[in-house]
Amino acid sequence: MSSKSKLALVIPCYNEELVIKSTVETLLQVFNDIISKGKIDSTSYIYLVDDGSKDKTWEIIEELHKTNPSRVKGMKFVRNYGNQKALIAGLLGVKEVGCDCAISIDADLQQDENSIEKFIDEYHNGADIVSGIRNDRKTDSFFKKFTAHCFYKVMNILGVKIPQNHSDFRLVSKNALEILSKYSETELFLRGFFHETGLKTAFVNFDVKPRALGCSKFNFFSLTSLALNGITSYSIVPLRLISVLGLITIFISMMVGFDAVCDALFRHDAPSGYATIIIMLAFLGGLQLVCLGIIGEYLGQIFREVKARPRYIKESELL
Ligand code: UDP
Ligand code: MG
Repeated sequence: MSSKSKLALVIPCYNEELVIKSTVETLLQVFNDIISKGKIDSTSYIYLVDDGSKDKTWEIIEELHKTNPSRVKGMKFVRNYGNQKALIAGLLGVKEVGCDCAISIDADLQQDENSIEKFIDEYHNGADIVSGIRNDRKTDSFFKKFTAHCFYKVMNILGVKIPQNHSDFRLVSKNALEILSKYSETELFLRGFFHETGLKTAFVNFDVKPRALGCSKFNFFSLTSLALNGITSYSIVPLRLISVLGLITIFISMMVGFDAVCDALFRHDAPSGYATIIIMLAFLGGLQLVCLGIIGEYLGQIFREVKARPRYIKESELL
């Protein structure tokens, strides 16, 4: 592998007018530093994906491109498609523009940009994927910490062994980008995808900084949707659990039935079973609805995929 690899930095941006300029300036300094050490090629560049921002993000990106066209490139979506699709678009975009490896990093630079060099070192040591692992979640709210912890636990129980505190701060080689381009799934869950490829993976621990300006673009609903997409894209265990639940329910119903028969035959106090009936009815009703909901999630996933709509629509690109 050549020691002078062409690096592309992929940055998804949604309403990031407050931070994007200083982020690009900081990253250009990091670039110069790593280029001067001879670790990446001088043609390396930053690729910004504007995920349908409603503020001045795109205008700022255009300006940055004008002052430094070889170093700053970008594309804009017609509307907001969400962080995962912006990331996929960025990775596929840099594959087309050309690079040996790509690193995705957030526009707010909460992820420590000084770790980029460590990612490159791991890549030069032969890794196709270098995943950033957060040292801690100090900057996250209690809610986000708790839900993230539950998500990784559930994914692991369901057989998708994604490391805890994994992030989308990640290096992928040209080889991995090639594989990514072959996946036509519209709702691709990147963390699951990169894990599934089985390519040689290394890990780099990094510190998370608080967001300097602006606010988080994720809320309860977008996080839930991301988590559900992750689960339904990569595990069918919940569907199997429904069958297990069904069997358990049948077993419990048989016991209750046996008790009811004993009541009728020997104890003759039938009305006392009223509470049991009500409880069983409510329990079974709830259970059926939960099971329907789980099936609905998978049906929704099939519904979205079967239409094979484009993942996103580009409005413009700066190359
Ligand atoms: N982002 C995006 N589209 C969205 C939401 C977020 O491209 O719909 C980008 C955002 O601009 C940032 C990254 O995804 O670069 C992570 O978002 P944020 O910092 O808000 O998430 P948090 O750090 O709170 O998890
Ligand atoms: Mg952030």
